Amino acid sequence: MNKRDYYEVLGVPKTATEDEIKSAFRKIAKKYHPDVCKEPGAEEKFKEAQEAYAVLSDASKRKQYDQFGHAAFSNGSGGAGFDFSDFDFSDIFSDIFGGGFGGFNFGGRSSNRARKGRDSVVDVNLTFEEAVFGCKKTINVTVNEDCSDCNGKGGHGEKKCSNCNGTGTVTTEQRSLFGAFMTRTTCSECGGTGRTYERTCNTCRGTGKVRKNKDLEVKIPAGVDTGNQLRLSGKGEAGVNGGPNGDLYLEFTVKEHPIYKRDDIDIYLEYPISISDAVLGCKKEVPTLYGTVKLTITPGTQTNDKYRLKGKGIEDVHSSKKGDMYVIMKVIIPSKLTRDQKKLFEQLSKTELDDEELKKINKYI
Ligand SMILES: [Zn+2]
Ligand SMILES: [Zn+2]
Repeated sequence: MNKRDYYEVLGVPKTATEDEIKSAFRKIAKKYHPDVCKEPGAEEKFKEAQEAYAVLSDASKRKQYDQFGHAAFSNGSGGAGFDFSDFDFSDIFSDIFGGGFGGFNFGGRSSNRARKGRDSVVDVNLTFEEAVFGCKKTINVTVNEDCSDCNGKGGHGEKKCSNCNGTGTVTTEQRSLFGAFMTRTTCSECGGTGRTYERTCNTCRGTGKVRKNKDLEVKIPAGVDTGNQLRLSGKGEAGVNGGPNGDLYLEFTVKEHPIYKRDDIDIYLEYPISISDAVLGCKKEVPTLYGTVKLTITPGTQTNDKYRLKGKGIEDVHSSKKGDMYVIMKVIIPSKLTRDQKKLFEQLSKTELDDEELKKINKYI
């Protein structure tokens, strides 16, 4: 299936700010909301925009999308795409249509609706080798969890809220110049849950949540690099009113290696050789990530000449394709010589350098 680019759907540039994204979505939602627009195809347009907004308005999801495109959200549930059913659009819709009106119903806007918990991000430092080969790490995270004493309810001795008769909302009649109209507000006694308790839970002080510090064993795949994120589904903040937990994102920072430089999946190594080795050619033992390799350096090698060691780079984190290693020659001109070396260079200097460029230059003398 060909999915449109989320930025294109909302008609904003890739550099759009949060506010620009919000206002672009607001315009589309206002135009195509199925309760307002009866045009054919309006609902599809509305849903498409809703999905784009759910991703682009969430900083970590947006980052994933920028990195991996639609593929970022298509794994796991059999390519079903991004599930935005937990996304809370209520603030946008109340902006557009006005809160508290009876006219529109967006699938239960009251605060006792189950909502997904917030996503959290943890920075993880890796050594070069850990990033290249993958590793197991114990990650310490602090997240809100449902209080185990009251099962996340916040109190003991549950009963129906008498103020709202268990509905979570209170309807009041207001009079204005245009006649009477009804407003529905969230019940202040129970906060919209429809339930109250005989005793507030002491452990969580009635919030139903406790901060918990825990260690997570995480398998980090081979090939990750600085800035890459790994999503741990359901390991974020606890959901609200029985909703699913948020996700936890690990963001990697990879330490530099003392001798190797990394460029995506390729590895570079600068290798110093003497003038005579460069001129005459030689064999050298060169360390790679996968053990020592014997490299044949051909006669007449110049500084910055590259020798490619195929497949000795890093495995791509997505495709498992292997990168290459490049050994870059640095011919060292000695600045200090022993007496013997000096003699040899003096002898060498008696031979003439046969160079076409130099001959051309000398014609102008
Ligand atoms: Zn109530
Ligand atoms: Zn509790």
